[in-house]
Amino acid sequence: MPEKRDYYQVLEVPRDASSEDLRRVYRRLAKQYHPDVNKEPGAEERFKEINEAYAVLSDDERRAAYDRYGHAGVQGMPADFGVNPFEIFEQFFGFGMGGGRRSRRAPRRGADLRYDLSLSFEESVFGAEKEISFARQDTCTTCQGSGAEPGTTPVRCTTCNGAGEVRQVRQTFLGSMVNVATCPACGGAGETITTPCRACRGSGQQRIEIQRVVPIPGGVDEGTQIRLAGEGEPGINGGPRGDLYIVLHAKPHRFFRRRGDDILLDVSINVAQAALGAKITVPTVDGDEPATVPAGTQPGRVLRLKGKGVPHVRRNGRGDQLVILSIEVPRTLTKEQRELLEKLGTTLGNEVHPQEKSFLDSLKDLFGGTAG
Ligand code: ZN
Repeated sequence: MPEKRDYYQVLEVPRDASSEDLRRVYRRLAKQYHPDVNKEPGAEERFKEINEAYAVLSDDERRAAYDRYGHAGVQGMPADFGVNPFEIFEQFFGFGMGGGRRSRRAPRRGADLRYDLSLSFEESVFGAEKEISFARQDTCTTCQGSGAEPGTTPVRCTTCNGAGEVRQVRQTFLGSMVNVATCPACGGAGETITTPCRACRGSGQQRIEIQRVVPIPGGVDEGTQIRLAGEGEPGINGGPRGDLYIVLHAKPHRFFRRRGDDILLDVSINVAQAALGAKITVPTVDGDEPATVPAGTQPGRVLRLKGKGVPHVRRNGRGDQLVILSIEVPRTLTKEQRELLEKLGTTLGNEVHPQEKSFLDSLKDLFGGTAG
């Protein structure tokens, strides 16, 4: 490649040219060298050079970088003109001569997909490997994506002669201009399929069931999303696939409830266990665990089983299990129980004690997160 010429020389302007000067010169040169009107050899290269120079010098930031560092100063800047010089031209003159063609054929990312996945309570706590199956567009397995029935071959499009685009001559203020558009017959492919694949009706794609094994980490909660990159719908014009988002739903448990990474469990004990204290066994997500009810336990008391909760997602360790005790008053009594309770009642007397704090208040304290 020949050495790049100085942008000011390209546009034939002094280094202190005003932006108005630049616009005027660009307007004249771009028209003069547009390859659709200028058929001299080298005109297209000159046209590209002019557009590149104008793209830099018409942008204050890039012009300043160019003035200070030369070509090195504007290489790799955002909006560097790997761009099409025709686009600069069309933006400047405010009309499209083929812009639609480029944007229609530009690569675009495929759509994202969503998959709702239900987990048991235990799976949401400890994680799981789940096999999922979902449908998405994929390359047709019958024609391998060509769209042509196996055994047949696409033929060159007769409308565009295989170019994928058609040129029409238009009259504009520049003289006759060639308007380039996507070939309407082949949609830009350059070939037409005479016998479309029966499986995909010629689209080259079909809906396919995809199976994936998804590792679910422990400690996820209702609504947690897991992204499988590149597992969504295929991109358009060679763009990348979209992503698959797996939205997790934890089924409620018969006994356990979650509060953040703690697990709550309601347990009822009897009057004697509450008054005398007791060693009891309570279910946890790890199996049965021993717990101690202290003597004189009141309703709403909470026993904390350290580390028996849900694993933290972003750090080590687990939450706790909170066992909320309620005290069950017997509904029916045997003769012996009745006699024993009557004896107890006599010793306890018949006074009542007004309470400052209700049972409901102490439960509210618990859900404020202070009980333990
Ligand atoms: Zn097919």
